[in-house]
Amino acid sequence: MFDTLICNGTLVDGTGAGARQADLGIRNEVIADIGDLGDATADRTIDATGQVVAPGFIDIHTHSDLTLLAEPHGLSKILQGVTTEVTGNCGYSPFPISPERTETLRETLSSVFGDAVPWTWQDLEGYRQAATEIGLAINIAPLVGHSAVRGMVVGFEDRPATADEIRAMNYQVDQAMAQGAFGFSTGLTLPPSAYGDTAEIVALTEAMARWPGRIYTSHIRCWSGYHITGVQEAVDIGLATGVPVQVAHMAVNDPRHWGEADTVIEVCEDAVKSGHDVTFDVYPYDASSSGFSQCMPTWAQSGGPAALLSRIRTPATRLQIRDDMLEEGLFRGWPWLWDRLLVSTTHTEAAKPYEGLTIQEAAHEMNLEPVDAALTLMDLDDARLTIIFFYRTEEDMCAFLTALFQSR
Ligand SMILES: [Zn+2]
Repeated sequence: MFDTLICNGTLVDGTGAGARQADLGIRNEVIADIGDLGDATADRTIDATGQVVAPGFIDIHTHSDLTLLAEPHGLSKILQGVTTEVTGNCGYSPFPISPERTETLRETLSSVFGDAVPWTWQDLEGYRQAATEIGLAINIAPLVGHSAVRGMVVGFEDRPATADEIRAMNYQVDQAMAQGAFGFSTGLTLPPSAYGDTAEIVALTEAMARWPGRIYTSHIRCWSGYHITGVQEAVDIGLATGVPVQVAHMAVNDPRHWGEADTVIEVCEDAVKSGHDVTFDVYPYDASSSGFSQCMPTWAQSGGPAALLSRIRTPATRLQIRDDMLEEGLFRGWPWLWDRLLVSTTHTEAAKPYEGLTIQEAAHEMNLEPVDAALTLMDLDDARLTIIFFYRTEEDMCAFLTALFQSR
């Protein structure tokens, strides 16, 4: 007698074994038997004829940290079979925070998190309690993000951390691990995480090394010229600390290097062959999305979103931002392909009419140069503009999706 019997389905059990016909009996919320259970009885029987029965999928890279609290049923994921989400990616976690810097962190993370719910916690434990009180339909495996930790300890300025600050950040990472964080993430083009050098990241990743099973995930430094060295930096941090590495949303974004996915995969493959735990996640499409603010010169972002907005609204600094954007290119050297940058989400009525247009198209409507249209859109949208970047090729994404490598 089972509580629930799922019969006549095609079972894919997640061990790597092939699909097979099998029934599945559940008792006390645990799978009690698998096989031909045709004669068994159950309080509830589900006929899965023509369906696949599988363990819940784990979405390894999400930013549902706050949206799940606002939409606790997580239907968009549940309906895809996802039952566990890894949150806190790209250096962005909603903890730890200090009361005096919460607002700047909230503004910094809003392009990814939205304004779904008020922040009523200060650390992972408080966040866990808030999530538990709401009652989520999905499991969360939260990473602690470098931007949150650095924002709390160092602030949002573009400067190296002092030795004392590195110790204080190390302590915060350790605390998050003690409270059950699944790992530590960086977002090395996203301030303030972007302001940390390799030595700082190693020092913080070392805080995790004494907590077995935790991972280091990195949205790499994909500046111009870094498409290989950025991946190598993540791998080297894993080698230096003995912590498993996950490279986030692997891609070749720089148009001058499209088609070089195999070279990037090789960096991971070499580390895996020599016995290190290195993996990557990848979007199953050739675009990516994030706040447009990270495309502004780094100096212009120093101090956080309010400081960036004020520089955009001050004629002299706006002119310098414009000059640097044109001179440096996108991400310090990629060509600006304005017809491949699409305005996805805006936050003000003034910017809303431009949603769905490329910056090229918006520039045409505004009768401006694309760079001026981009800055005008940032101004209109209080520097919160979200953009979809069509800076990847399907060929590269297919290579990443089909890459298979095994350790010794
Ligand atoms: Zn990212």
